[in-house]
Amino acid sequence: MAEIRLEGIRKTFGKVTAVRDVTLTVRDREFVVLLGPSGCGKTTLLRCVAELERPDRGRICIGGEDVTDLPPRRRRIAMVFQSYAVFPHLTVFENIAFGLRMQKRPHQEIKKRVQVAAELLQIAELLERYPSQLSGGQRQRVAVARAIVVEPEVLLMDEPLSNLDALLRLQMRAELKRLLHEIQTTTVYVTHDQVEALSLGDYVAILKEGEIIQHDTPMRIYDEPATVFVGGFIGNPPMNFLKGSIEVNGDQAVVSVGGHHLAAPPSLKKRSGETVLLGIRAENIHATTEPAREGLSARVLVIEPLGSHLLLTVQVGSEGLKVIARNDFVVEPQQGIWLRLEPGKVRWMNAQTGEALV
Ligand code: ATP
Repeated sequence: MAEIRLEGIRKTFGKVTAVRDVTLTVRDREFVVLLGPSGCGKTTLLRCVAELERPDRGRICIGGEDVTDLPPRRRRIAMVFQSYAVFPHLTVFENIAFGLRMQKRPHQEIKKRVQVAAELLQIAELLERYPSQLSGGQRQRVAVARAIVVEPEVLLMDEPLSNLDALLRLQMRAELKRLLHEIQTTTVYVTHDQVEALSLGDYVAILKEGEIIQHDTPMRIYDEPATVFVGGFIGNPPMNFLKGSIEVNGDQAVVSVGGHHLAAPPSLKKRSGETVLLGIRAENIHATTEPAREGLSARVLVIEPLGSHLLLTVQVGSEGLKVIARNDFVVEPQQGIWLRLEPGKVRWMNAQTGEALV
C-alpha cells in the first residue's frame, strides 16, 4: 500500500517560489502525470517526493507514514531521470542488478530478478553488453529496468523519454504503458509533453507557476479544462476561444458571437451583459459550405491537409479559429463557410479570470 499524500508543499529557491502550497494525493498503484510548461515546478515537486529537495513547508506521507524527514534510503522509492544515468563501466546485467546488490540480496535471487526485469523491458539479449554498445532507447530501458527491479513502492520518473527521437519515443511510450500496467506501482511521472501525459496517466495534474491548476482524468482535462490556460495548453491544435456577450432573450440565455446568437446554459442568465469566452475544440466545430441559419459565418484563411483530416484556419469576425474538417470537404481559401459548434462541447469561461463558469 503506497499512497502518496502531499499536503501544502512549498519550496522556494531564494526569491523564486518553485512549488506553491501543493496538495495532491496519488492513490496506491495510480499513475499520475505532472504536466506543465518549462519552469512550472514539476521537477522540484518530484524531487521533494524523492527527498532530493527539502520542502520549506508541508508534509509528505507515503503509505500512511509521514516521511517528510526520513532520508531517501529509508523509503522504497526508485527514480528514472531524463539523462539515462546508467553506469558506463558496468554491463547491462550489473547496471540492473545494482540496487539489489546494494540490498545484499542472494546471488540466485539477483540473477532471477534481473532476468525478469530484462524480459519485461525486452533487453534480455543485451545483458552482457556495456552501455556504450547500446542505442539511446536501449539505454533508457536499462535505466527503467534498474528502477523497477528493486520492486519499489513508488516509482518517480522525470521526462524519461525526452532524449529519444520522435519514433522511438512513440514506441517507448506504449511500452512504458504496458510495463506500468503490469508492475502496478504507484508512479509519478513528469513531462512537458501533453500527448505523453494524456496517453500515460490515470490522472494528470497541470501545474502553472508552482500551483496545481487542475487534477483530473486525461479525458476530463481535455474535454473540460478548468481554465483557459489548460484548454490552450492541452490539445493540438489548442482549444479555440471565442468572445461572446450574454443576453437574455425571453427566459432564455443566449450568447451573441460575431453577430449570431447561440443558446447558452440557463445558469448564465444572471450574467446578462457580461463578456464570456466560449471554448471549443477544432473537432467539435462542423463546417459546411451551405448557408446555415444557425451557423456562424466564417471565412477560410488557410487549408492544411494533414493526411487523416483537413485543418482549417478560419476567421469569425475579427477572431481566428482552428477547425477540423473531413478530407473530402471541398473548400477554397477566402471562401465563406458556416460553422456549427456542438452545443454539449462548448466550455463557458469567465473572460476576466479565465476560469470555467459551468
Ligand atoms: P522544466 O520542464 O524546464 O524542467 P520544471 O517545471 O521541472 O521545468 P523546475 O525545474 O521545478 O521546473 O523549476 C521551477 C522553478 O524553480 C524555475 O523557476 C527554476 O528556475 C527554479 N529552480 C529550480 N531549481 C533551482 C535551484 N536549485 N536553484 C534556484 N532555482 C531553482
